[in-house]
Amino acid sequence: PERTNSKGWDITHQPTLNQIAKDCAPHRNAQFNAGPCPSYGDKYPRRRLLPAQDILNPANPGDLVGQVQQSQADDIAEALENARPWQADLANRRAALLAAADAYEANAGLLFAILTREAGKTLADAVAELREAVDFLRYYAAQATPDNQPRGIWTCISPWNFPLAIFTGQIAAALAAGNAVLAKPAEQTPLIAYQAVRLLHEAGVPQTALQLLPGGGSVGAALTSDARIGGVAFTGSTATALRIRSTMADNCAPGTPLIAETGGLNAMIVDSTALPEHAIRDIINGSFRSAGQRCSALRCLYVQEDIAPNLLAMLKGAMNELTMGDPWHLSTDVGPLIDATAQSNISAYIADAAAEGRIIHQLPTPADGHFVAPTAIRVNGIADMDREIFGPVLHVATFKGDALEKVINDINATGYGLTFGLHTRIDDRVQTIVERVTAGNIYINRDQIGAVVGSQPFGGDGLSGTGPKAGGPLYLPRFSSHLATQTDA
Ligand code: GLU
Repeated sequence: PERTNSKGWDITHQPTLNQIAKDCAPHRNAQFNAGPCPSYGDKYPRRRLLPAQDILNPANPGDLVGQVQQSQADDIAEALENARPWQADLANRRAALLAAADAYEANAGLLFAILTREAGKTLADAVAELREAVDFLRYYAAQATPDNQPRGIWTCISPWNFPLAIFTGQIAAALAAGNAVLAKPAEQTPLIAYQAVRLLHEAGVPQTALQLLPGGGSVGAALTSDARIGGVAFTGSTATALRIRSTMADNCAPGTPLIAETGGLNAMIVDSTALPEHAIRDIINGSFRSAGQRCSALRCLYVQEDIAPNLLAMLKGAMNELTMGDPWHLSTDVGPLIDATAQSNISAYIADAAAEGRIIHQLPTPADGHFVAPTAIRVNGIADMDREIFGPVLHVATFKGDALEKVINDINATGYGLTFGLHTRIDDRVQTIVERVTAGNIYINRDQIGAVVGSQPFGGDGLSGTGPKAGGPLYLPRFSSHLATQTDA
């Protein structure tokens, strides 16, 4: 807070906490609407007589954040007919994307408030998410070249856990290459998507180049099974990605690209040379920040046996310091899960572990809202985990010094390969492990979340996705026609 300038902003251009609180305040009780856009955008909600669906704050179900009109078959048909690749020349496309980035920043308070109330993001996570969304817009605008010719219409299907950043990243890359986009936000988070699309349109992206189609799985199915689709960008579960792939195989032209960023079963190894205070900070961040609702999150911690008693005692102490509650408050470290379904699935998973006597430590759960308390669970190894548990659940295994090889084999054998963390002070070990572990993003002596656009391209292999990595140099070209590089001149 001491590092502010005369405008009250941090010298690193991050807003101070006081600034954030002030900017969000007017949006604390506001209600927001969303619907198919722009087809009915200006007339919404008058033209539609369908019942709108309430969007409630996951931390506080008494807080009505807004309402959404789900897309109907006629909205989808109309959007497909109206979609036109963005004809403007490269300079104009770039200018519009950069103007949108500025508009996102100028509307920070509004966007933070919706991220917090609709998606249960802590304000710290909301700040990081807006930063990432803006970075995507500027990065892909800078990456676009005259060679990036459009493929046509891209369907972009994004998740609720990064409802602004990933939503924006997919769209920005597709638009930078001159495509038309049909964007389907996650069913849980249409309100932030609607605001993002509004800002993009106001910044100069034509309404025919970007259309929003809120809805659930049936809307996603319609948008991935039409022969007019030139590509699909999807971030979400591995199971859904596999479904999309087979739908596309049956309906789209051969070679229609699918860019999928899916789940992870991410491990961290902490050996006996690690600095414990440092490791603990990164374990807590990786497993409990965003209530564990990141595909990059730490799921299975391997601690070398001789330091395990000490490290686990420190872990419990650090967990006890976490504040759970309404993410609107600046003191909150851990917010809610996204909805009642997630809450009951993860609670049931924890209850099973408790029945087997495997709980290492668990915090008390707040009464209202879709909260699940941070929990540490004992496992023999990552092979005990048959799926990704998308919440604040850390699995802990111990290993003997001579078993490192088996630990690495077990991590690779999950078939996922998204993030991996290593805490060690042995340089040779860094080298050997980095060469052996199959993961898209490997982090040494730090936490394994929060990849930075442009410097840490993000994405995995195997069950974790198709690549290319988001925020890296290969991502945008995948949205372009491969004919682009063949010129007749
Ligand atoms: N890119 C994010 C990170 O590095 C995770 C994205 C996701 O959870 O889908 O933490």
